[in-house]
Amino acid sequence: MHIVKLASNENPLGPSPLAVQAARAVLGDSQLYPDGAGFELKTALAANLSRQAPISIDQITLGNGSNDVLEMIARAFLTPETSAVFSRHAFAIYPIVCQAVGAKSKVAPCGADYGHDLAEMAALIDGSVRVIFIANPNNPTGTWLTRAALRAFLEKVPENVIVVVDEAYFEYVKEAEYPDSMAWLNDFANLIVTRTFSKAYGLAGLRVGYAVASVAVADLLNRVRQPFNVNSLGLAAAVAALDDSDHLNQTVETNLKGLAQLMEAFDARGLAYIPSVGNFIALDLGRPAMPVYEALLREGVIVRPVANYGMPNHLRVTVGLMLENQFFLDALDRVLSV
Ligand SMILES: *Cc1c(COP(=O)(O)O)cnc(C)c1O
Repeated sequence: MHIVKLASNENPLGPSPLAVQAARAVLGDSQLYPDGAGFELKTALAANLSRQAPISIDQITLGNGSNDVLEMIARAFLTPETSAVFSRHAFAIYPIVCQAVGAKSKVAPCGADYGHDLAEMAALIDGSVRVIFIANPNNPTGTWLTRAALRAFLEKVPENVIVVVDEAYFEYVKEAEYPDSMAWLNDFANLIVTRTFSKAYGLAGLRVGYAVASVAVADLLNRVRQPFNVNSLGLAAAVAALDDSDHLNQTVETNLKGLAQLMEAFDARGLAYIPSVGNFIALDLGRPAMPVYEALLREGVIVRPVANYGMPNHLRVTVGLMLENQFFLDALDRVLSV
């Protein structure tokens, strides 16, 4: 049976061949511990990220995926006496890292588009709040915040509250008003920007993510970081991936085409969805999505039910190659016509 997996927002083109080659080249030296400081990758990242604003290597914290960084943030800044704010239907890891350190979660009502309502989030800030998590764009909704809206929010947040802007899908977004919040690190000492090699760079299996923040905040995060949290293969592959801009451009182009293909197909079928700028899209079936998810499985198509995000009527579909998207749409037609 032909199987198409569109469930985990992975890159349908796979990793950069240069990244694979780089990982292979260090595999034979696996008796060696990785560089705990991640010097080469941080140097490459600093050079790459400094295109927008100067970033120094001591502003960077490497993680075993950005999930690891999110957990470090919780361990560095949250306690059972404090709380964190995030939006309803935001990334599922935020409540998990809060729970892990015993901190309270304050969940803000979402906006009309299922996205972040920054006014509602600001209204939850009280003396107990130490961290605010914002996913831009958000998973699983694909919604995003403009430069003006996010900047105005940051101006309002007290200095002693950390604002995490999770930009896991940054590379995919081509909207003119989409902010590069890393350019604001000099203006906000409480800002942490997280990104990952799991999505557009196609290295989810190797687990490499990072945070960029002020030197002082990066120092705190690095104090709770396990010394060898990123392995040698991941470090080498990530450095090489940064160099392969052709692969990244092709990834983004493939995604924009696939997104357009899916949205057109949904429109043609009168199916509702949340407009997305990520490499995935949340389809609104207007009824419980679980039976449709299960029927799709029987057709060989794996998508993601998001009832655990409080969205029982939606299915999150990762944008695949054109043929994969079509395979999904054909299966969906068969399932929905029954
Ligand atoms: C996928 C994703 C991540 C990245 O997770 P990794 O641990 O880096 O693989 C982070 N934030 C959001 C919102 C995501 O969807």
